[in-house]
Amino acid sequence: MSDRAVPFHCPYCGDQDLRPSEQGPGSWECRACLRAFSLKLLGLVRPPASRGVVGR
Ligand SMILES: [Zn+2]
Repeated sequence: MSDRAVPFHCPYCGDQDLRPSEQGPGSWECRACLRAFSLKLLGLVRPPASRGVVGR
């Protein structure tokens, strides 16, 4: 599993014309709205526990 996340759409305008930015790993540029942004993995979340189950 790669640790590089590849966005398929710009989170700001929704365009798909993205390219990697020179500003570092995980940085992307949108050529449609000319925004630069970065993606960062914060970690994994726990799957939601089913209701009514308390404790382990
Ligand atoms: Zn955009």
